[in-house]
Amino acid sequence: GKPRFTATDPSSGQPGRSYEGHSGDEALEIARRVRAAWPGWRDTPFAERARLMKAAAQVLRRRMDEFAELMTAEMGKTRNEGLAEIEKCAGACDFFADHAEGFLARRPIDMGGPKAFVTFNPLGVVLAVMPWNFPFWQVFRFAAPNLMAGDAAVLKHASSVPGCALAIEDVFREAGFPEDVFRTALIPSRDVRALIEDPSIAAVTLTGSVAAGREVAGAAGGVLKKSVLELGGSDAYLVLEDVDIDKAAGICATARMVNGGQSCIAGKRFIVAAEIREAFERALTEKMRAYQMGDPRDAATKLGPMQSVHARDDIHAQVQKSIAAGARLLTGGEVPDKPGAWYPATVLTDVRPGMPAYDEEVFGPVAAVIEARDEADAIRIANSSRFGLGSGVLTRDLARGERIAAEQLEAGMSFVNANVRSDPRMPFGGVKESGHGRECSEFGIHEFVNIKSVLVQ
Ligand code: NDP
Repeated sequence: GKPRFTATDPSSGQPGRSYEGHSGDEALEIARRVRAAWPGWRDTPFAERARLMKAAAQVLRRRMDEFAELMTAEMGKTRNEGLAEIEKCAGACDFFADHAEGFLARRPIDMGGPKAFVTFNPLGVVLAVMPWNFPFWQVFRFAAPNLMAGDAAVLKHASSVPGCALAIEDVFREAGFPEDVFRTALIPSRDVRALIEDPSIAAVTLTGSVAAGREVAGAAGGVLKKSVLELGGSDAYLVLEDVDIDKAAGICATARMVNGGQSCIAGKRFIVAAEIREAFERALTEKMRAYQMGDPRDAATKLGPMQSVHARDDIHAQVQKSIAAGARLLTGGEVPDKPGAWYPATVLTDVRPGMPAYDEEVFGPVAAVIEARDEADAIRIANSSRFGLGSGVLTRDLARGERIAAEQLEAGMSFVNANVRSDPRMPFGGVKESGHGRECSEFGIHEFVNIKSVLVQ
C-alpha cells in the first residue's frame, strides 16, 4: 500500500496537511526513471547546467516567503531563520553554477613524456537521505554541487517534512531542469535499503543520526556503493582563561541556539577554564535567557518550538538524567504547560562523564558547561567525544587559538573566536562518529565523481 505523510505544526501540536506517499515499487520506478534521464544530463554542457541552476536560485528567491512558512508549519523554524535559509540555498546554487566547471576542470599531470591528466566524470544517480532540521539547506547543499557535476538525484526526505520534500522537487521543475533529473520519493525509511540496492542508484549521501548513518552506510557497503555521511555532533567550544568573558558568552550562546539548538554543528559543550568558570556561567546564562520562546511566525522571535513533542521529550529526558547524575541547572529545564513542542533555553553546569549532556548529542537549546583545569585538560575533554564535527576555541591569543584549532582538536571544522557555520566555500563534514566525506567547496563536489586518470601516448 501507499504510505501517508501528515505534517504536524510543532507550535500548536495540531495536524497539518497530509500527503499520499509512494509505495516501495513506485520509489524504485522513480529511481529508474532518474537513471534513464541521467545520460542526457551528464552530456549537458556546464553552461546550460549553470543557467538552470541560476534559474533555481531565482525560483527560491521568488518563493522565499512561501518556503519559510512551509518550514515553520512542518518543523517550527522561526520565520527569520527560514528566510535566511532560503537565501543561503539560492547562494549555494549561484556559487556552484559559477564555480563547478573550474572545480571539475581537467588537471594535467607531468608524466615526463606522454600526455596525462585527471578528469572528473559524474557517477550517476545519487540517493540523498535528508533530515528535517534545515529542510531546504541540507538538500541544496547536496543538490547544487552534484547536479552541477552532472549527477542526477533522488531525494528521500524526513517523514516529518513532506511539503518541503515536494516543494524542492518543484523548484527544479519550475527552473526548467529536464524531467526526472531531480525527483522526490515520499517513502518511509524502511524502503531506503531497496533503493540503495537497486542498480539504478550509484551512491548515497545521508545527513542525520548515527543510527540512520549506520543503517544506510551498511546497506551501501553491502552492495559496494560509496556513501557520504554527515551525522551528529557534540561540538566543544574551549573557553580559555584569557577571553573577554562577555564576548565569549555571546559567541557560545549564538553557537548553541542556532535553529533552536537543533543543528549538528551547534555548540553543545562549553569547556571553560576553572578560574573564569563562575563568571562565564553568569554571562552565558544571561545571554541564553535572551532567547525567549515565542511564536515562530513573529519576526522578533529567536526561539520557536522544537521539531516535535517527541523530540522535545527526548531533550527533556537528557536534561533530567544529567541533573539526577549531579549536573546543576542554571536556567530553563522546565516543560511549559501548553500544547506544542516547547522547550526553554537551558544551561547546565558541573557536567561530567556519565551524563547525557556530556556523552550524547543534545539536539535542542541546552548548553552544557564543563570545567577544565588547563588548556591540555580542555583539549582532552573536547577530544573525549565519540563525535568530531565542529569545534571552537575562544581566546585573545590568536596564535594559540590557531595552533589548537589547526592541530589539536579532532573535528572536521575548528573556528577561533567565531561560531562554526556552513558555507559553500568551505568543506563541511566530520570525523569519528560524525561521519565521513565532505560537502560544499571543491572537496565536496569531488565526492560523487569518478576521478579518472587518462594517459595518451
Ligand atoms: P534520523 O537520522 O532518524 O532521520 C534523518 C533521515 O534519515 C530521515 O530522512 C529519516 O527518514 C532517515 N532514516 C532514519 N532511519 C533510517 C534508516 N534506518 N534507514 C534509512 N533511512 C533512515 O533523525 P531524527 O529525525 O530521528 O533525529 C534523531 C537525532 O538525529 C537527533 O536528535 C540528532 O541527534 C540527529 N540528527 C542530526 C542531524 C544532522 O544535521 N546531522 C539532523 C537531524 C537529526 P524518516 O524521517 O522517514 O525516519
